Amino acid sequence: MTSEYFQRARAVIPGGVNSPVRAFGSVGGDPVFFASAQGAKVTSEDGRVFTDYVGSWGPMILGHAHPQVIEKVVEVARRGLSFGAPTVLETVLAEEICKLVPSIEQVRMVNSGTEATMSAIRLARGYTQRPLIVKFAGCYHGHSDALLVKAGSGALTLGIPGSAGVPPGAAGDTLTATYNDAEELAAIFATYGERIAAVIVEPITGNMNMILPQRGFLETLRDVCDQHGAVLIFDEVMTGFRVALGGAQAVYQVKPDLTTLGKIVGGGMPVGAFGGRRDIMATIAPQGPVYQAGTLSGNPVGMAAGIETLRLIQVPGFYDALSRTTLRLTEGLERSAAKYGVPLSTNQLGGMFGVFFSDLDDISCYDDVAACNADHFKAFFAAMLAHGQYFAPSSYEAGFVSAAHTEGDIDSTIDAAQKVFAKFT
Ligand SMILES: *Cc1c(COP(=O)(O)O)cnc(C)c1O
Repeated sequence: MTSEYFQRARAVIPGGVNSPVRAFGSVGGDPVFFASAQGAKVTSEDGRVFTDYVGSWGPMILGHAHPQVIEKVVEVARRGLSFGAPTVLETVLAEEICKLVPSIEQVRMVNSGTEATMSAIRLARGYTQRPLIVKFAGCYHGHSDALLVKAGSGALTLGIPGSAGVPPGAAGDTLTATYNDAEELAAIFATYGERIAAVIVEPITGNMNMILPQRGFLETLRDVCDQHGAVLIFDEVMTGFRVALGGAQAVYQVKPDLTTLGKIVGGGMPVGAFGGRRDIMATIAPQGPVYQAGTLSGNPVGMAAGIETLRLIQVPGFYDALSRTTLRLTEGLERSAAKYGVPLSTNQLGGMFGVFFSDLDDISCYDDVAACNADHFKAFFAAMLAHGQYFAPSSYEAGFVSAAHTEGDIDSTIDAAQKVFAKFT
């Protein structure tokens, strides 16, 4: 039976949700309507409490409603919600970003990850005066027209829109390649190199579940971009401040030309950012000819949440503790699955993880994820939800652990998983 909340929402909101994956489309059943959250726990409108492994899809690295973040947000909100004029808070957050991610020399604030990637692409095209961009199948870079393209198979696909409403013209300059396939990328550059403005990549993927780059993959991206004068964009909207303080680029020591940020940078408020090399950033209006703007960009409340979040993740040992928590979870899940003969593998780094119902040890690209056991995932998701464990309602999404998750929280989750896997056969 459909909940009253969902029924009421569906009457006035398409599909009852404001972002599609919230609708539980791939797992079935009704979405849970949240009323409040604190630390690692979320409470639904009908009073159920869940341990949360979604964390608003990434931003809540400190846990929900962190008292110091809330306090700063409230304090700043009292002084006015938006001015449409410069504030010192914007400079403070920009300084903090440039300090933590050294490849970023200058940064522009926007209101979402979608805006950040869309603007970074426009900037790369304006800077290079070239039309083509390269993305990888299964990587998500927000919902702007040119980026809603993915390959049907591993083969190179020239601009087939992945959504109705995207005209072929808008997607026709997007080339799609296979994640972790350096040879294919080199071949693409051999053919189109002079016309390629940028390569955009999730350096660690999170939108086809969590896949780590194979040895040398990111280095190859750097090399081919240098050889052909293309801009390398790391989309770290998810991985920024998540897998490590300096993001995936700090882990793999590969320096992109531009980086896009979102999620944690706004601490739960709608904030995105894109930044990088000073000479490229100088191409943006009002300094340069690439237009980009936003009425609410850099708004004080978002800045306050971002500043306080970035301050709190810099306490010594923060990422070590977070990694230990994540590892405790993924190792526990693997152990529980093995005990009952359920094929399962995991990936994890920092506060991010992936769970795959698969025999494969090494999940390296979209096709590997698509080949996972969808029935196992659906059964796992539904049964874990019934046990008070809120995992992402899609097998293509990464999971997140926060600093508020205790060993006790993780152990309860593993206990629940044992019970679930015991009934799998
Ligand atoms: C979430 C995400 C986006 C889009 O951000 P929104 O704030 O949802 O627009 C872009 N790129 C990556 C890698 C993301 O994870």
